[in-house]
Parts: sequence; structure tokens; C-alpha cells
Amino acid sequence: MKADIRVCADWENAHERPVYTLADSCPDCGAAAVNSAPAPFDPEDPYGEYRRALNRRVR
Ligand SMILES: [Zn+2]
Repeated sequence: MKADIRVCADWENAHERPVYTLADSCPDCGAAAVNSAPAPFDPEDPYGEYRRALNRRVR
């Protein structure tokens, strides 16, 4: 059984790192919070590191 921890659906744009919550919306930016198990945030995502590195470079 998956934990019902959710992650901000817009964290890549709104935050430096994933924002986890148990609520339906992000406590920081108010965006929808989605189940953290499937995409968009996958800790196993082989391209995640690269994508986040790019994201940081753009700032
Ligand atoms: Zn957020």
C-alpha cells in the first residue's frame, strides 16, 4: 500500500525541491498536490537529476 503523501504538482516551477504534503494542495504555493508515487515526481527518474540541474542553471 502506498503512503498517501502528496507532492506539489508544480514544484518544479514553484520550488527548488519537491514540496510534500498530506493535504490536497501545496501549503506553499496553493497548487494541486498529487500522489507522490507516480509522475510527475519520480525519485527513480533517471533524467530528474539532469532536469533539475538545468532548472537551477536557468535561474
Ligand atoms: Zn507548491
